[in-house]
Amino acid sequence: MPRSKFIIQRLIGYLTGFLLFYEPFMLFHNLTGTLFEETGFYSLHVPCVRIPLANILTGDWAYAGPVSLCFCLLLALVSLWFGPFFCGRLCPAGAFSEFLGSLLPEKYQIDWQKYVPITTLRYGFFAGFLLSAFSGFASFCAYCNYYAFELFIISIYSSQLLLTSFSLLAVFFIANIVFGLFTKGGRGYCNFLCPVGTASSLLHRIGQLLPSPFKMTVNKPACIGCGKCARSCPMRTISLKQGKAVIDTNRCIVCGCCQAQCPVQAIRYKSNITKEL
Ligand code: SF4
Ligand code: SF4
Ligand code: SF4
Repeated sequence: MPRSKFIIQRLIGYLTGFLLFYEPFMLFHNLTGTLFEETGFYSLHVPCVRIPLANILTGDWAYAGPVSLCFCLLLALVSLWFGPFFCGRLCPAGAFSEFLGSLLPEKYQIDWQKYVPITTLRYGFFAGFLLSAFSGFASFCAYCNYYAFELFIISIYSSQLLLTSFSLLAVFFIANIVFGLFTKGGRGYCNFLCPVGTASSLLHRIGQLLPSPFKMTVNKPACIGCGKCARSCPMRTISLKQGKAVIDTNRCIVCGCCQAQCPVQAIRYKSNITKEL
C-alpha cells in the first residue's frame, strides 16, 4: 500500500476513535446507552477495564454499567481474534503520544528497551492494576493517563484548565512528554503502563491458541534484514535476529506501520491458517 494511503487510513481510524469515544460526540457511549437505556454521565473512562473488572470481581455486576461492559466485551473479542486493534487503529490517546514522539529527531530520544525489561514491567504493572481492584477504586485513577488525557481534551474545548491536581499533571507530563516526545516510537505509556493495552495484548496472546486468529507475521525467507520495520515500529517490538525481523506479539498493537515500511512486502497481517486482511 502506498505510504500516503496508509497515513490517511490511520488518520481516519483515529478520527473515528475520537468520534466514538471522546466528548462532545461520544457516539459509542450514546448509541449503547440508548440501546440499553442507560442514562447518566458518560466519560472517556468507558475503555478503562478496571472499574468494570473491579465491579465484576467484587460481585457488583449491576454497577459496571452496560456501556462499559459492552466496550470491554467488544475489546476482548476483537483482541482475541484480531489483536489490540483498538490501540493500533482507534485510540487517540496512544496516537497523540506517538505523534509527539515523531516531532523530535531520534538522537534526542530514549530507547527504553536498552535499559529495562519492558514486557516484564508491563505485565507487572498490570498485575498491580488488577490487584488494586480489591483495594478501593480511587487510588489508581490519580495516576492514570486516561483520566489525565480526558481532562486535557475537555480543557481544550471548554477553555478551562481541568488538569489541576499535581498527580494528574505529573502523569500527563510523564505519559506524553517523557514517554511520548522523548521516547523512540512515542508509545512509552502504551508500552509500560496502559492497562487497556496490556489486557488487549494478553488476549491477543491467548487468541493465538484459537483457530484462525490474526497477527502480524514475517515471511522470513522474503525478509532482507533491512531493519526498516523495526525503526518504524511505534512500540519498538521488532528485533532483528540472525538477519531476520522478529515481532514480539506481547507488545504488537497491529498498527501496520512495519507492513507499510517493508520494501519487499515480507510482513503480512494474517490468520494462522491462511487468510490475509
Ligand atoms: S495502550 Fe492504552 S493509551 Fe496506548 S493505544 Fe492502547 S489503549 Fe490507547
Ligand atoms: S510490530 Fe508492526 S504492527 Fe506491531 S506495533 Fe510494531 S509496527 Fe505496529
Ligand atoms: S522491513 Fe521487511 S525486509 Fe526489512 S527487516 Fe523488516 S521485514 Fe525484513
